[in-house]
Amino acid sequence: MTDTPFEMGPIRPVDEADSLLIRTTRGCPWNRCSFCTLYKGMTFSLRSVADIKQDILAAKNYFNGHPFETCFLQDGDSFVMGTKDLVAVLESLRKAFPSLKRISSYGRAQTMAKKNPADMRAIRAAGLNKLYCGMESGSAQVLKNVKKGITPETIIHSAHMAKEAGMEMTQFIILGLGGRELTEEHAIETARVLNEINPDDIRLLTIGVKSDSDLGLQMAEGRFTLPSEAEIIKEQRLLLENLEGIESHYANHHSVDLLLEVRGQLPRDKARLLAVLDRFLGLDPKDQINFTLGRRLGYYQRLSDMDNGLTFDFVERQAQKIREGDESFEEIFHRLRTQVI
Ligand code: SF4
Repeated sequence: MTDTPFEMGPIRPVDEADSLLIRTTRGCPWNRCSFCTLYKGMTFSLRSVADIKQDILAAKNYFNGHPFETCFLQDGDSFVMGTKDLVAVLESLRKAFPSLKRISSYGRAQTMAKKNPADMRAIRAAGLNKLYCGMESGSAQVLKNVKKGITPETIIHSAHMAKEAGMEMTQFIILGLGGRELTEEHAIETARVLNEINPDDIRLLTIGVKSDSDLGLQMAEGRFTLPSEAEIIKEQRLLLENLEGIESHYANHHSVDLLLEVRGQLPRDKARLLAVLDRFLGLDPKDQINFTLGRRLGYYQRLSDMDNGLTFDFVERQAQKIREGDESFEEIFHRLRTQVI
């Protein structure tokens, strides 16, 4: 709960840090993805238009004329609202905050696919002009394994409708989501679907499996094998290599990602981004461990930070202590990843 006189949900995308947050739904209508614990235990509910409008007015009074340029609609999926209701909320929002230039929401493919092109155009015309979509993978098998409840065809269909309506789109991908078993398929099929969509932004997240998630249970039972850090970078290389004919901005986006300098505009920067991945993959295994440990502990940001001999030696001493202990490097790296997601 918050101390604001209007409801706020638990999360928002990284890019919406300065945005006005208006809650249209509570929780996620699906809530079954095996890797996700975001809304665990929360029953999904749709808020009434009257309640949301009341919140918009309360936010207007609370912020007292603050000229917000961006607003994010919480929680998991505003498209579950009837089109007329969503349009009414958007119109009321723009009336209360006329300075808004961008209104965004999460958009779940399966829910968006239930709208028709005219619905999508009406929603866009009312002001919703940016979507954050968690496709996570383009592989039908990976999507099925993680109980995502969407198919590659639905992802492509809903994305085309949204883009044709004029909405900007970010697609999130989870590296490592297919496990060691499906790493190639995950990379190649994800690239295929992204090539069909040509989203404005592609954002990569490296997998971190929470022990209380269904995937955590599968991992404990040996039914899902987590790829190593180097295998995840190999997977990313295969994905990036197969992105063709699109003009997306591509970025490792989150502190959970190992190589934060993999960030650029496609197709212009593709060779540079591949070169960063190749530089890591070309390190000898001991130096890969040194970089990964230093990066996960916060001593390095970029590969070139390893060139500082003092920091390198300091990280090497930490690595030596780990070699003398019981926990493997990969176990430690994964634990450190799950702490930042
Ligand atoms: S990943 Fe998204 S769709 Fe899946 S349960 Fe979590 S919030 Fe819902």
